[in-house]
Amino acid sequence: MTLEKVAVIGAGTMGSGIAQLFAHYGFTVSLIDLQPSLLDRALSTIGTSLDRMVKKGTITAPHREQTLSRISVGTNVNGSVSGVDLVVEAVSEDPAIKKALFRELDANCRPEVVLATNTSSISITSIAGATSHPDRVVGMHFMNPVPIMPLVEIVLGQATSQSTAQVVKELCARIGKTAVEVADFPGFVANRLLMPMLNEAMFAVMEGVAAPSAIDTVMKLGMKHPMGPLELADFIGLDVCLAIMNVLHEGFGDPKYRPCPLLKRMVAAGQMGRKSGRGFYSYT
Ligand code: NAD
Repeated sequence: MTLEKVAVIGAGTMGSGIAQLFAHYGFTVSLIDLQPSLLDRALSTIGTSLDRMVKKGTITAPHREQTLSRISVGTNVNGSVSGVDLVVEAVSEDPAIKKALFRELDANCRPEVVLATNTSSISITSIAGATSHPDRVVGMHFMNPVPIMPLVEIVLGQATSQSTAQVVKELCARIGKTAVEVADFPGFVANRLLMPMLNEAMFAVMEGVAAPSAIDTVMKLGMKHPMGPLELADFIGLDVCLAIMNVLHEGFGDPKYRPCPLLKRMVAAGQMGRKSGRGFYSYT
């Protein structure tokens, strides 16, 4: 089957980037979220990102228009996925939301369609268990910002077939990404290594070891990291960081993964990082 039409479910930080990427490479994209206002925000984010690419000379102005014209938006999952060749799910990092969505996708997509999830940490096997075709469910873990970062972790659940893995690996080559196959363990590779570092930086803030900007400077100048851990946590979204730490903590049952109480408190206060205007830094 040739893959031409893609549905991206969830139009937040990641879904908007994934939609932009597929449209950039000529795919027809249906971008779905719960409310029209969220879709308007996603289209505006994509437009701004494409503007930057035109300014830098990475794409031409006509390519910008073609890319935008390939993206349609909607709020109805069922009506949008019946004719697609692939679904990439990028909704909130919540197992119950993802499983309910995959049940719906299973009922509405053609049986041969690969259902990919961009989850950062939730078990692919458990998401696949909500469908009647677990062999066609796979993790495609894109990195943020999607149009720029070259990696996709391909996560194979217990029942994911080799042919499904092959489909998404070939797809990654078509969209200019390097695919790395990993097994279905909490946090996979990327977040098992990254998140404990971000969480530790939050403990250091909480304990008064240093201010966020000092911690970020240590890691940028001392370790040559392009972003400091707290800047990066704000960029990822503190709610997403907390959700991933919870998955690591519950999945391994090891207290070394306990989420920092300061992270929990900030999320409870609605301080989600860049997307809410406030996190370890202020964005207003
Ligand atoms: P986000 O909060 O920015 O966006 C999630 C979007 O999903 C929201 O717009 C929300 O309205 C929508 N949504 C929720 N339930 C839905 C449903 N049933 N149907 C349609 N839309 C629904 O989150 P995000 O940062 O884009 O993360 C999305 C996924 O990508 C998560 O699984 C996350 O773990 C993963 N991820 C995030 C990052 C990152 O840096 N933020 C990186 C890699 C992977």
